[in-house]
Amino acid sequence: MTKKKPYNDIRLLDFQDKFSTEQICLDYLVKMRWPDGVTCSHCIDSKLDFIQTRKVFECRQCHRQIYPTAGTIFHKSRVPLRKWFWAIYLMATSKKGVSMLYLQKQLGLGSYHTAWLMGHKIRQAMAQRDSIYTLSGTVETDEILIGGKQSLDERRSKGDNKTPFLIAVEENSQGGPRFLSFEELETIYEEHVVPAIKKNIRTGSTIKSDGSGVYIKAQKEGYKHERSVEMKEPEKTHEHLKWINIITSNLKRYLLSTHHGVFPKYRKAFLAEFAYRFNRRYWPRQAFDRLLYACINADPAPLPVLTA
Ligand SMILES: [Zn+2]
Repeated sequence: MTKKKPYNDIRLLDFQDKFSTEQICLDYLVKMRWPDGVTCSHCIDSKLDFIQTRKVFECRQCHRQIYPTAGTIFHKSRVPLRKWFWAIYLMATSKKGVSMLYLQKQLGLGSYHTAWLMGHKIRQAMAQRDSIYTLSGTVETDEILIGGKQSLDERRSKGDNKTPFLIAVEENSQGGPRFLSFEELETIYEEHVVPAIKKNIRTGSTIKSDGSGVYIKAQKEGYKHERSVEMKEPEKTHEHLKWINIITSNLKRYLLSTHHGVFPKYRKAFLAEFAYRFNRRYWPRQAFDRLLYACINADPAPLPVLTA
């Protein structure tokens, strides 16, 4: 799929040795969160003690307490940090993603529900991390539909059960794929597609698309447009949006083979996970640290699911 073959740097034994106890994991998290040491936000130059039994730092002067995991996805979780670290490691480094059933079994989690919630929070951290970037330069774009499996009754009541997304792939200087983003769309009409383009792609970029009229509007918003004019020759259109076609077919295989299809309301999160891994495929050695950092700095999940 790409010229540079990403090597798989899975060193399970190294990881196991490195993060062998809860305390080591907590120390690692604290060091990442407060590289210059934990300080009290109220008192200058005050020392803090770590209260081992309660896993909390306390200021000697004002007795303010600082929980190392407060504000992170791990806060108030009953799952040991060690297992969280493993889940992050597996989700960050596995080329094809991991199913939540696999996570539950490998980590010995009490229930599938717990594994699911952990996966969901990690996925949200991934989505938040990527949402701060915008694509630029030459960007292939298209609208794709995800899903569609449903019972006849569902089809009758809720339409076709597919979710439209804008897919955008930034090309590198050699014409290969660099970064990938997805944006959920309400419809594939211009009033929804154009704002999605503006959110994900920097103004002034060149958009490569099929001949859809949506992109004429995008041109008025300051984008250059390179459309496939070979509408009667599908092979050329295919070549024009080469990376989108390859990535979309990988994506669909990933959703079906790893996750056996995904409920509509979670499609966005699963696509974000797919894009997150794709965007970091050349940095496998940093995969764990980067995702742990994202998990520490993510806003707690905006869903009533924070009890994993
Ligand atoms: Zn203090």
